[in-house]
Amino acid sequence: MSIAESIEKYRAELGDVQLVAVSKTKPVEDLQAAYDAGQRHFGENKIQEMAAKHEELPKDICWHMIGHIQTNKIKYMASFVHLVHGVDRKKVLVELNKQAAKHGRTISCLLQMHIAKEDTKFGLDEGELREVLTELDQYPNVRVEGLMGMATNTSDVEVIGAEFAHLKSLFDEFQESLEWTTLSMGMSGDYKTAVAHGSTHVRIGSAIFGARNYSA
Ligand SMILES: *Cc1c(COP(=O)(O)O)cnc(C)c1O
Repeated sequence: MSIAESIEKYRAELGDVQLVAVSKTKPVEDLQAAYDAGQRHFGENKIQEMAAKHEELPKDICWHMIGHIQTNKIKYMASFVHLVHGVDRKKVLVELNKQAAKHGRTISCLLQMHIAKEDTKFGLDEGELREVLTELDQYPNVRVEGLMGMATNTSDVEVIGAEFAHLKSLFDEFQESLEWTTLSMGMSGDYKTAVAHGSTHVRIGSAIFGARNYSA
């Protein structure tokens, strides 16, 4: 399937769920092909790579930073980033707030929760989440819109389903009072389970653009 055909297939299948096309490591020609098929939301996991692609590509693209955030690089995306998914510590909120204020804007973000069994994946635990949520008024130029999480990398649908259900229950707990809109969960391998559990944004990369080659 071509990139354009994949975009059409996923957009038709997902309906109201937002497709974030994860284009990390891929050349701008591939992003342009997705763009020409109507895709406007793209996800990258390295700030400088995203900034370089933002320079080259049409300016109506909504750029999602889905990777782990190095705070010293936030300045490179502060003027244009649409949504920062991976906020997993206060230091990131502090720096996002500072850089957003410099640009006279508010930056939208999601708090990343640690829901997987692997301890290699980043994210807040429940206690840290509750603490951060009591302190949001310290970051007037940041708007927390919801939560993001990555399930364990397993083919066991029950494990994945339980992790997404847990994230959804946390989302539901705060959704009304904090006016949350966004629950980012699901990738190429587990997006169906994520959507079944109430995901609003899925982050799909390899199923659209093909396998990534990190050695290139
Ligand atoms: C790379 C990445 C994805 C996309 O992964 P695929 O398996 O290629 O769909 C989704 N979310 C995050 C956080 C990623 O880093």
